[in-house]
Amino acid sequence: CGIVGYTGQRQAIEVAVEGLGRLEYRGYDSAGIALVGPGGLVVEKRAGKLANLRSALLSRPAPPSTVGIGHTRWATHGAPTDRNAHPHADCHGRIAVIHNGIIENFAVLRSELEDKGHRIVSETDTEVVAHLLEEFAAGGLAEAMRRVCLRLEGAFTLLAVSVDEPEVVVGARRNSPLVVGRGDGENFLGSDVAAFIAYTREAVELGQDQVVELRPSKITVFDFQGAPAETRDYHIGWDA
Ligand code: GLU
Repeated sequence: CGIVGYTGQRQAIEVAVEGLGRLEYRGYDSAGIALVGPGGLVVEKRAGKLANLRSALLSRPAPPSTVGIGHTRWATHGAPTDRNAHPHADCHGRIAVIHNGIIENFAVLRSELEDKGHRIVSETDTEVVAHLLEEFAAGGLAEAMRRVCLRLEGAFTLLAVSVDEPEVVVGARRNSPLVVGRGDGENFLGSDVAAFIAYTREAVELGQDQVVELRPSKITVFDFQGAPAETRDYHIGWDA
């Protein structure tokens, strides 16, 4: 339901939790974050209020990390449990994904992936995306996301991080909102501007069926066919 992404110099955990707090008004049943740290991927997720996630993070402090994603879930497929909460990871715990929306053809994709040996552990429509990204990982995370999106039916905002590209957050959208926040040596993603309003008021609007690769000092946008995409910069007014 709510989505935050960050890459820069700050502690990503703080940006993600702050952003999720500002997205609470949308309603949700679970919350989670993924960080790319020196020791690999850290995923923490809990059913219930953000307070549950906050106390889980306090009881098991995460290593420093400047790249991360955060999610508040409004369950459509699978009960609101810790396991079904986002982020979802691939089989090797190298890629983490968060998702707003519904992937209509997830059942077909799931059986295809299971035939290839993937073990799907949640009941969500989302988890197949993490495993598909793993299948396509060789070309890099952004290219993998583009290829995965071509396989998906439905409405989605997706964000992913990978231990193989520790500075990068990749996003994609179809019939579901995603906004880029432009910072100075840091960049943000949000399902709406509230996700990053505490840090920047410079935003980039993404179009339909686009993929964005976010690095601390670079924002690259292309369409699902791989062609560079036009984007529009705008300033978020004080009434936001
Ligand atoms: N369909 C996904 C799920 O149930 C995402 C729901 C959402 O938008 O939060 O896990």
